[in-house]
Amino acid sequence: MGKLIRGISKNARFMVIDSTDVVQKALEIHNSSPTAIAALGRAVTAALMMGQEIKVDNGSVTIRIDSDGPAKQLIVTADNKGNVKGYIANDKEVIERKANGKLDVGSYIGKGFLKIIKDIGGKEPYVGIAPLQSGEIAEDIAYYYFTSEQIPSVVALGVFVDKDMSIKHAGGYMVQLLPGAEDDFITKLEEKIKAIRSVTELMEGGMNPERIAKLLYEDMSSENPDDLVEEYKILDTVEVNYSCDCNKEKFFRGIVSLGKDEINHLLENDEDIEVECHFCKAKYSFNKDDFKLILENN
Ligand SMILES: [Zn+2]
Repeated sequence: MGKLIRGISKNARFMVIDSTDVVQKALEIHNSSPTAIAALGRAVTAALMMGQEIKVDNGSVTIRIDSDGPAKQLIVTADNKGNVKGYIANDKEVIERKANGKLDVGSYIGKGFLKIIKDIGGKEPYVGIAPLQSGEIAEDIAYYYFTSEQIPSVVALGVFVDKDMSIKHAGGYMVQLLPGAEDDFITKLEEKIKAIRSVTELMEGGMNPERIAKLLYEDMSSENPDDLVEEYKILDTVEVNYSCDCNKEKFFRGIVSLGKDEINHLLENDEDIEVECHFCKAKYSFNKDDFKLILENN
């Protein structure tokens, strides 16, 4: 289980998350290559923060990337209760690291588009789209917010894969300016982001989400380390988990929607229909009897 905090100050709202356990669970399910789990882990971390914006029950936010790199496609969905699930189409490919030793998520994703789909209870979901900037995900999401929603945002995401292929640290933060944010606050925030270490380095140093939030608001121009750029308040603490809401009934309805001919075709040779959930790898199997009523009636 990971932890997300959500807070606000005069000029901005922010979220900070420790998603180490969530990304570890994703890795255990998908058994992805290091670069793929770094990409998926960053997206999962971002989606958990973005899910907090959804105000309706049963709503969700989906990050979808379609691109020309080895990953091909990434889909991650989160709700506002701290649940997230996701997958990458091609998650086994091993990509060479960058010259600085870092996992090359940008090359793994490649060029393409980031789509944000918000299911907020209406008939049609809200869909926003932006071209990928670097494929490194954090920058792509910040660009999406700025161009599609006109919200200047700072997004930081990090996944540190240990030598034993476990997730040592995963986390992130997002600071979004409120309408009419003061220039002085923006300048100080920009300076701060440039000056501080990466999220996983901060976590390696023992920082939890509350401490990272304080770091973001510390006033570097003051000699007293307790001085803040402005007061802030933590509004919520949310437990976050990797969890899939699939079940046999959902897959059954999916198969039924294919129609009678297709079902008959799938049942040829008296073999059961086997399906596997992309998100959690759960397997479901259906036999002729499951479709008896449908095949007998029209
Ligand atoms: Zn599932």
